Amino acid sequence: MKSYHGKSVYGGIAIGKIRFWKKSDADIACYRVKNPDEEFIRFEKALSEAKNQIDNLKEKALNEVGEENAEIFEIHKLMLEDKDYIESVENIICNQGINAEYAVSATAETFAAMFSGMDDHYMQARAVDVRDISDRIVDILSKKSESIVSYNEPVIIVAEDLTPSEALQLDKSKILAFVTFKGSLNSHTAILARTMNIPAIIGVDLISNEDIDGNLAVVDGFSGTIYIEPDEEFLKKSYQCLKEELEKKELLETLKGKENTTLDGKKIELFANIGNIKDVSLVIENDANGIGLFRSEFIFLEKNTFPSEEEQFAIYKNAVETMAGKKVIIRTLDIGADKKVDYFKLEQEENPALGLRAIRLCIKRPEIFKTQLRALLRASFYGNLSIMFPMITSLKEVCDVKRMVYQTAAELESQNINYKIPEMGIMIETPAAVMISDELAKEVDFFSIGTNDLSQYSMAIDRQNEELDEFFDPYHKAIIRMIDITTQNAHKAGIWVGICGELAADTDLTQTFLSIGVDELSVSPSRLLPVRKKIREIDLRKK
Ligand code: PEP
Ligand code: MG
Repeated sequence: MKSYHGKSVYGGIAIGKIRFWKKSDADIACYRVKNPDEEFIRFEKALSEAKNQIDNLKEKALNEVGEENAEIFEIHKLMLEDKDYIESVENIICNQGINAEYAVSATAETFAAMFSGMDDHYMQARAVDVRDISDRIVDILSKKSESIVSYNEPVIIVAEDLTPSEALQLDKSKILAFVTFKGSLNSHTAILARTMNIPAIIGVDLISNEDIDGNLAVVDGFSGTIYIEPDEEFLKKSYQCLKEELEKKELLETLKGKENTTLDGKKIELFANIGNIKDVSLVIENDANGIGLFRSEFIFLEKNTFPSEEEQFAIYKNAVETMAGKKVIIRTLDIGADKKVDYFKLEQEENPALGLRAIRLCIKRPEIFKTQLRALLRASFYGNLSIMFPMITSLKEVCDVKRMVYQTAAELESQNINYKIPEMGIMIETPAAVMISDELAKEVDFFSIGTNDLSQYSMAIDRQNEELDEFFDPYHKAIIRMIDITTQNAHKAGIWVGICGELAADTDLTQTFLSIGVDELSVSPSRLLPVRKKIREIDLRKK
């Protein structure tokens, strides 16, 4: 058995035979044409046929992967209409008298190289798209039919790379997994794989040949590993994992796409909590309405040094793009207390949970906070991003951080860098914040109640100390009342309120939260469907 590692695009287990996907690699002939003007007309006709094909593909994508993901084909159409692209082809055909197929493929290479050389990851990922549209035109010019590939049995597709249209043309019911040598997490093929719920790995270091074609393999999309020719024992274990996966999926399928609505028609948003960009696939798999808490400090905890603005920007942008228009609430750094990072070089504290943590640290170390804010504001330009500040205790803190956000925006503006000011919310996780929630509500766009810290600070019980478990009452009336006070104050000011602490996932409290009027619950991905199930069983007319 051999195993190869790559980057996980989408989790899941797949077992089956490998089909090595190979593009037709016949060299594109280059020759002089007698009548360049006629040749250009031939190109124009192919261009218009390519647009028709893309319209059809977009229609297919709309049905199979939804509106946001189908947008890639809108981008393809725009690329086909790009003046520079057409001018480059025209120049090669008309001024140099070269055939259209070659003119298109040479233009594709020039544009792909230009995109690959850009700093911006999003633009880099467009190289594959310009090749995709150009291959389509070349296929039309050389009268090749659209290559709809179908297999007799479901297979694991292994390929050098896959374009979005190739991925979409494959019969989804016959694809067990995608494994590619190239590709970026940002590519639309990766996004499509996630949305199609197909285990996918990219950047796998496999020898690019067809020797593996037909071999049995196990793809573990969670760890990003493909095992080729697995031994009997490993195969047995993998089948067991697959069985468990399928059972989970069955429950998932019945609840997927369903509203989070009670029997008497009350609707609530159900979002997911994540700590890592990799978790976004779980969010999609479990059909969350958005991300309610992205604990950004995990990005810092996983590193030995401060993540740069670019690194953070790439992660936040990836999250909003993958969530394709759904809300992504990123909580700013919540370092301190139990979440310690050596390179922050923080002083030893007597009571770290009551010490320099979260927003206090950001206010005291503006250079760290500013870098994060720049990355967040820039990523906000690419999707539906909101930011949320942790551990707020006073109005002054909110005004201070908002001022820092606007200063950062002004800085980006003066540097001509794309940005958008996101919705800004705060966590309500200290009793002080609850008590002044009427005033805080006037300053922000939303509240998210952090019941983990709110319980610790209200009951004076260190959340890390298991010795105190017997004194801890997760259903303490004080907490339920504080949730009620916060919700009423939020609604009076016209803002929405959610819960993102662990209590949000407790189905024994779902009815209580709904009766109070909480607008959103944000839970770990694995709890989304059980909570949805509970919501759908509740009838608020019955006490
Ligand atoms: C909370 O305190 O409830 C919360 C969601 O934040 P964390 O658990 O990350 O402190
Ligand atoms: Mg907290």
